[in-house]
Amino acid sequence: MDQNAIPCDGCTECCKTDQVILRPEAGDDVASYDVEYIASALYPGRRVPALKRDPRTGFCVYLVEDGCAIHGRAPWTCRRFHCARMFKALGRLPRAKRDALWARGDVLEEAIVERGRDRLKLAETMGLDHLLDTDMQVAAFEKIVAATPRR
Ligand code: SF4
Ligand code: SF4
Repeated sequence: MDQNAIPCDGCTECCKTDQVILRPEAGDDVASYDVEYIASALYPGRRVPALKRDPRTGFCVYLVEDGCAIHGRAPWTCRRFHCARMFKALGRLPRAKRDALWARGDVLEEAIVERGRDRLKLAETMGLDHLLDTDMQVAAFEKIVAATPRR
């Protein structure tokens, strides 16, 4: 059993909000996706490949009415991401670091954080919160905070 046992219940919020960065080092075949190169808080000073967004909606181009059109081959980040895990990781950061992430404006999305709060509560109710491994997410947040100039 893994974190996917924590149900999304029809939600597709993260496909609408977050732009998915591709990770060739994790096995993503960049050439097999519809891609654009973007700036990212995680990779300062570089432009990295990411799934294109539909210019009309701003949503991932692979999001269709009943969910992900490429579910069987969705990129590593899509398979790895869970808002409950992200919310749990945020809770491990000291307040000042959470504030620094919010202040950037390009890392945290309110809708996803709120959904993460809800899903973590559900995971706890279902006794599944132990499936949420937060070390990698905390490390990613720490890296972004360290690269953020102090105001
Ligand atoms: S925001 Fe959370 S509940 Fe919604 S689709 Fe993403 S992971 Fe699932
Ligand atoms: S590839 Fe699929 S799971 Fe990933 S953001 Fe797009 S629609 Fe969502």
